[in-house]
Amino acid sequence: MTGLVIANWKMHGSTASVMDFIDQWNRLPALADVRTVVCPPHPYLASIGDRMAGMALGGQNCAEQTEGAFTGEVSAAMLVALGCRYAIVGHSERRSLYGESDAVVAAKAASAAVAGMTAVVCVGESLDERQREEHEAVVCGQLSASLALAEAEDIVVAYEPVWAIGTGHTATPAQADSMHAVIRTQLLQQFGDSGKNIPIIYGGSVKPGNAAELFQCDHIDGALVGGASLDANSFWQIASVAGTGRT
Ligand code: PEP
Repeated sequence: MTGLVIANWKMHGSTASVMDFIDQWNRLPALADVRTVVCPPHPYLASIGDRMAGMALGGQNCAEQTEGAFTGEVSAAMLVALGCRYAIVGHSERRSLYGESDAVVAAKAASAAVAGMTAVVCVGESLDERQREEHEAVVCGQLSASLALAEAEDIVVAYEPVWAIGTGHTATPAQADSMHAVIRTQLLQQFGDSGKNIPIIYGGSVKPGNAAELFQCDHIDGALVGGASLDANSFWQIASVAGTGRT
């Protein structure tokens, strides 16, 4: 499976920093065997468009509804009109800070698919849940409910242990790989044979220094990168090792 590396800029950046990123990215060598995606804050989508070589565009969120009186929301069709091919849904920050349930995440993933995008559906356990050894059950429960309306060809799963996001505490390759194997089994149960083609990417403090060892794991198909994706060079370094050795 070709590696997939997605930049999640969260609510960072400015018009100037976006222009700098585009400029720096386009000076870096082209990458082989990897798909790269940038998910900037929505206001910057239009100015990025297709200006970054080889980079697809994605939204960080989308509304579950198609249109109407939903102040502050952005529909999947609006993202598509700006060139987005991916939408992150169910990021742990959306789940914890904005109270998004699995049912809401499922509706958002469905909405993204209807508009023609791939939904990057995020799942992951909290530190407490891992310490209580409930992480596998929690993640399988999230998958079962968040993917309830999805078709296999419309989704990417991002495993992001909450305790590893923005904390500098990456899951060890063994921890991540073992959870990805559990996720693959769950996807095969939910989607039958087509579950084997759903990319499962890892997120949580991925950096140039730890990316290669994560990508060497059998069950890790790429990464969702927050902090380290804000710098074109470090995002390129991460993406540059995602293609190597993958089948
Ligand atoms: C994220 O925002 O999805 C993420 C994984 O962030 P970070 O890489 O900064 O941990």
